[in-house]
Amino acid sequence: MDREEFRRQGKAMVDFIADYFASFRQRQVVPDVRPGYLRPLIPAEPPQAGEPFENVMADLERVVLSGFHAYYPTANTFPSILADMLSDAIGCIGFSWIASPACTELETVMMDWLAKALGLPPITSSGGGSGGSGGGGVIQGSASEATLVIFLSARNLAIQRLQAQRPEAQQQPSLALSRLVAYASDQSHSSVERAAMLAFVQLRKLPTDGKRSLRGDTLARAVAEDRARDSSLFWLLITTLGTTNSCAFDNLAELGEVCQSEGLWCHVDAAYAGASLICPSTDTSPTESSFHPKQLADSFNFNPGKWLQITFDCSALWLKDSSKVVNTFNVDPLYLQHEFSGLVPDYRDVHWLHSLVRQRLHCTTAALADSVGSAFSLAEDLVRSSRSYGIEGLQSYIRKHIRLAKQFEELVTADDRFEIVEEVLFGLVCFRLKARLGSRLYRRIRVDGRIHLIASEFEASDTFFIRFAVCSEFCEAADIRYAYDVISELANEVLSKK
Ligand code: PLP
Repeated sequence: MDREEFRRQGKAMVDFIADYFASFRQRQVVPDVRPGYLRPLIPAEPPQAGEPFENVMADLERVVLSGFHAYYPTANTFPSILADMLSDAIGCIGFSWIASPACTELETVMMDWLAKALGLPPITSSGGGSGGSGGGGVIQGSASEATLVIFLSARNLAIQRLQAQRPEAQQQPSLALSRLVAYASDQSHSSVERAAMLAFVQLRKLPTDGKRSLRGDTLARAVAEDRARDSSLFWLLITTLGTTNSCAFDNLAELGEVCQSEGLWCHVDAAYAGASLICPSTDTSPTESSFHPKQLADSFNFNPGKWLQITFDCSALWLKDSSKVVNTFNVDPLYLQHEFSGLVPDYRDVHWLHSLVRQRLHCTTAALADSVGSAFSLAEDLVRSSRSYGIEGLQSYIRKHIRLAKQFEELVTADDRFEIVEEVLFGLVCFRLKARLGSRLYRRIRVDGRIHLIASEFEASDTFFIRFAVCSEFCEAADIRYAYDVISELANEVLSKK
């Protein structure tokens, strides 16, 4: 493809994307393809000769979009798409400052902007995650990656601490490993469990209270038990603000105090709800004390790719002391050193996992550029999003989702066939049929296919419920009403066959 052809096809692609966005309401919410649908639609062998780009475009609708399901059609906005285009064109490699000063510094400044917009404490601007002596923000691919980075860093610190206390542990690192325990609530995301597996440490899932909130006394008791057994070295708590299941909040104020007194690293996973901090606390429902990460956290993570108009993947991680992560993962061969080494951030030490995962996924040499360049893409996205929408635009976007969720909550509350099972704080409404036919209603909704909802349960109380999540830029009051009418109609059907 030469430059003129690129111009032509690029414009056609932009038209295709704009038309695709315009067609959302006509498209099937859930595709009706069966597993294995795709292979017969494309040739069995890769083409020997290159094909005209038109052929590829012609296949998009038939092969890709027919089997596409926008599971999280949350944040891929036009400015974000344009930013991705630019960053692919620049093809920037940003593993060290010298490789692309713009890439590194843009990421640092964007993370500082974002920290200010969220009202995070001023721990975020001294070196941007590497090279500095204090805290810093860094972009990760996902909240799961951020959790794993924190697990491995905290594990490293705990082992070093133990080895300093007990010289015999230096000969036997596995001795230390077997004594490490991390804590999280029974509502924490599955990625916490996986991070524990990858880090080879035990995870204790602690019970939550009636509002699915992990409380300080529960953590303190668990730590005391482990201390009494002398079998554990206490080192990490993953606390969740806005759980995946029902958007419940751990009590950060209480937990933070326990972490401080017991010497635990306190990591806040606010993957979804963290974006709401961009609104003044009076706007949003959770109280300052239960939510605000100013309190006592050592690291804080949320996904702009969930609620801040930025295309997946984008996860923002801030560290109170970035050297704890940098020192864990630092490798410094001569070919990566430069005249400013140690004076400026070299992000390879902090988003190494993001790079690594992408390298493996893409599995091509070009992916090396893509993997580290993706940080640039994300920073570009952050610039585009914040400059296109402004803080006020992002605030009103979040307020709108909260308003729409409230609208759905009111419709459900006014209907005595249903009940709300968790306080509605943001864009998620958890509800069920009172008649305990929830799973039948859910199956009916899925077969019907006009709307797409996910079910979940509170295992401890054997409560099955349906999650209604507001997450599209294009969602309006009429869509909420439509969804409620569909649910109501299908509930009638289910109840009439009781
Ligand atoms: N943590 C919480 C609380 C979540 O809700 C989610 C995803 O929904 C995750 C972590 C995982 O996020 P990611 O897909 O960015 O790894």
